[in-house]
Amino acid sequence: MLQDNIYSLMGISDELFSYSEKILSTLESRFKEIDKTAEYNQMKVISAMQINRVSAACFNESTGYGYDDIGRDTLERVYADCFGTEDALVRPQITCGTHALSLALSANLRPGDELLSPAGKPYDTLEGVIGIRSSPGSLAEYGVTYRQVDLLPDDGFDYDKIRDAINEKTKLVTIQRSKGYQTRETFSVEKIAKLIKFVKEIKPDVICMVDNCYGEFVERTEPSNFGADMIVGSLIKNLGGGLAPSGGYICGTKQCIENCGYRLTAPGLGKEVGTNMGLMRQFYQGLFMAPSVVAGALKGAIFAANIYEHLDFHCVPNSQESRHDIIQAVELGSPERLIAFCKGIQSAAPVDSYVSPVPGDMPGYDSQVIMAAGAFVQGSSIELSADAPLRPPYAVYFQGGITWHHAKLGILKSVQQMLDENLIDKEKLKEI
Ligand SMILES: *Cc1c(COP(=O)(O)O)cnc(C)c1O
Repeated sequence: MLQDNIYSLMGISDELFSYSEKILSTLESRFKEIDKTAEYNQMKVISAMQINRVSAACFNESTGYGYDDIGRDTLERVYADCFGTEDALVRPQITCGTHALSLALSANLRPGDELLSPAGKPYDTLEGVIGIRSSPGSLAEYGVTYRQVDLLPDDGFDYDKIRDAINEKTKLVTIQRSKGYQTRETFSVEKIAKLIKFVKEIKPDVICMVDNCYGEFVERTEPSNFGADMIVGSLIKNLGGGLAPSGGYICGTKQCIENCGYRLTAPGLGKEVGTNMGLMRQFYQGLFMAPSVVAGALKGAIFAANIYEHLDFHCVPNSQESRHDIIQAVELGSPERLIAFCKGIQSAAPVDSYVSPVPGDMPGYDSQVIMAAGAFVQGSSIELSADAPLRPPYAVYFQGGITWHHAKLGILKSVQQMLDENLIDKEKLKEI
């Protein structure tokens, strides 16, 4: 069979290949469901582009102050329509997801205000932003206090404690959709909608912000369709579709986005300025591609969970659960397996396949981190990538794959690497 030959050429053993084919044959209906969601979201994107009369002129480069930049302004209306918000800020000047979140928070909080996280500890890099970990320039230094309500043991929201935590100072509530580097479940849009409704019933004028990283286009709706005042994310994740080389977005209410504009540039200038750096075509085309790119990444995540669960590794989400982001966590139980997994992913890459990842210190993270990525855009995690903090339970967080077939190869290579290093039992492949 041609397919056997091509995978053996890629270094995958026959035993592993036939194991993976058996796994794959059980996933047909789930893949079909993913394609339906992608189809729905594709229509949303096309419709938003048509309504806003996107034209070739939108792809022109602006320079300097970027006054009257129709490409930039139209793109922001496309985002706002696509996500059902009043306005949006979508800029190449936003460096990454952390920057977008930091911007959204600092733009809308003032000294004396309190920030509440009702869903436990936020993403590692936000600890520095908020000042949970002392950091120059943090919100804490500007007199913004922080309060957190941890999740219940079953990952549910602790509604009683959340009610108690909301007080006259509470200005903004931050909800992280994706699990990040935790092993909790990722929240569905429905679950987030319920939490927002609860919070608004207690304090209607509180700003509800959702860290939307990795969740975009996984479902048919977004938190902004259910009362979130801001949704925030990175363009080198889902919405950049693998084409955006930089950037971040915030979609939200007119007031919140206006504040973000003033914070991004300067009070008094706001959204009116900012060159598009000649990146508009990639931003538009990336958004256009994003629904099907996210579908490919989701197929990879589900494939990985099924492959690894049958090898007796604990997977979050598990092989059967519904998906609310593109991240797959696999608890590998030892640093050796973690490193082997990342080596395998790296060796499957179109770029830098010959290098070997090693653990190291990373700005913003408090334990050593190992990362595998052979990406066209540096650090892009919508492209096939894996990262893991070196701490028990040695869970690897695996995500992305601009194409499903690349994701498939990456997962097979990760298993192959462990087989080659005798870190998993070959006999297990026969048990299915
Ligand atoms: C990736 C991520 C961030 C931070 O984004 P960067 O682009 O890495 O700065 C924040 N929150 C969540 C949930 C993320 O997944």
